[in-house]
Amino acid sequence: MATRIEEAASYALVQLTTKGPPNRPRDGLQTGTARKIEVEATALERELRAGVEGDVVFDESARALYASNASNYRMAPIGAVLPRNTGDVLYTLAASRRYGAPVIACVGGTGMPGQTVNVAVVLDFSRYMNRLIELNAEEKYARVQPGLVLDDLRRTAKQHRLTFGPDPATRSRCTLGGTIGNNSCGTHPVIAGMTADNIDEPEIATYDGVRMTAGATTESERQQIISADGRRGEIYARLKSLLDANSDRIRSGGRAKAILF
Ligand SMILES: Cc1cc2nc3c(=O)[nH]c(=O)nc-3n(C[C@H](O)[C@H](O)[C@H](O)COP(=O)(O)OP(=O)(O)OC[C@H]3O[C@@H](n4cnc5c(N)ncnc54)[C@H](O)[C@@H]3O)c2cc1C
Repeated sequence: MATRIEEAASYALVQLTTKGPPNRPRDGLQTGTARKIEVEATALERELRAGVEGDVVFDESARALYASNASNYRMAPIGAVLPRNTGDVLYTLAASRRYGAPVIACVGGTGMPGQTVNVAVVLDFSRYMNRLIELNAEEKYARVQPGLVLDDLRRTAKQHRLTFGPDPATRSRCTLGGTIGNNSCGTHPVIAGMTADNIDEPEIATYDGVRMTAGATTESERQQIISADGRRGEIYARLKSLLDANSDRIRSGGRAKAILF
């Protein structure tokens, strides 16, 4: 959902113009459907403070800090939450949803097309959720939190003569969360693949309240997930139809042409 600030009558109430996906996907020129929403920022901040263990920063200097990243874009967010744990993340998503506030994740802020800059509640994983939880050298996998800096993982892995292949130039600053979000590759994708090729089981929390682990499935496991009721099955079903509709085009080097959600 793309958002742009329309007018901030007072900080207590932020008005946004949001753009949903085009409702006529076959019309390549249609850019989306616009709608205005209002977010009661002060009330949302109060609610977040009541339930988040980490930091909730809605003051002007914090908003100024999150208003830019490595891109050319500038937009003051509604505020930022620096979660201490998964509970904080889920709480922030649920509270923001109740108030109609968009949420974006930000970590190193080195992404260049401006994805971490918007009129939204920023979830910044870099301060607290930045740990390497487990490195299993024998089975060659690591479990990480999204704010872990890429070089911190690579340094520890090196002690076991291992590495994480994708190596963006920003690897001393950028994080695993941002690297997954961007599907970064660095200079060695021919050897190591892109980030998506090196991720086994992402743990996902969606804005609308679904929490799930994704990853490789057999065809029958995938069918079981799709047949089960609920949003998870719906997401898998839409992914499958996206794949079915585009696999020839993707294999021949083209781009997928569809809208997923
Ligand atoms: C000088 C320079 C050189 C660069 N060189 C390369 C390069 O060689 N190769 C390359 O591939 N890229 C490169 N980049 C781009 C960028 O550094 C990488 O893509 C980097 O991996 C982004 O990581 P980050 O932590 O800064 O992410 P951010 O910019 O903070 O976030 C990136 C995206 O991930 C999303 N995201 C972050 N965490 C989560 C989460 N927990 N859940 C959901 N979404 C999340 C964000 O919302 C955003 O959309 C370069 C950028 C610069 C400025």
